[in-house]
Amino acid sequence: MIHNISLPPGEFGGPWIDDLFMGRLDPAAHPYFREIAGLRVSAHFLIRRDGSLIQYVPTDKRAWHAGVSSWNGCERCNDLSIGVELEGADDVPFAEPQYETLARLTRDLQARYGILDLAGHSDIAPGRKTDPGPWFDWARFRASVM
Ligand SMILES: [Zn+2]
Repeated sequence: MIHNISLPPGEFGGPWIDDLFMGRLDPAAHPYFREIAGLRVSAHFLIRRDGSLIQYVPTDKRAWHAGVSSWNGCERCNDLSIGVELEGADDVPFAEPQYETLARLTRDLQARYGILDLAGHSDIAPGRKTDPGPWFDWARFRASVM
């Protein structure tokens, strides 16, 4: 499952995404952080703007990235999905190295788990979530993992 995230929203770089997923985000560091510090959220992977890949949770363990969601009749998407966050925002194109890393990661995961259903957060939580957003090039991504 593909997401985008930036902390604070619209800003890239900085330690904040790491801090959030590690459960140590400082609520005093930014007004927005007060709203989200203390949420139990995580993802299996983060791909930064430069294409670097960070893993927070083993893929055979559950991460908390889906929230209230539904996909193909399954209501608990956290239980059976691998969450990949791209550092980005709904109104900004993703960076070239991010597509390259995402393709490599997805091919590795498919080699291990078989063909995966590829979906965006907005697909499983429509009306509630918009990520990865209109800039994410699904056609390119799908073609890169065939
Ligand atoms: Zn998301």
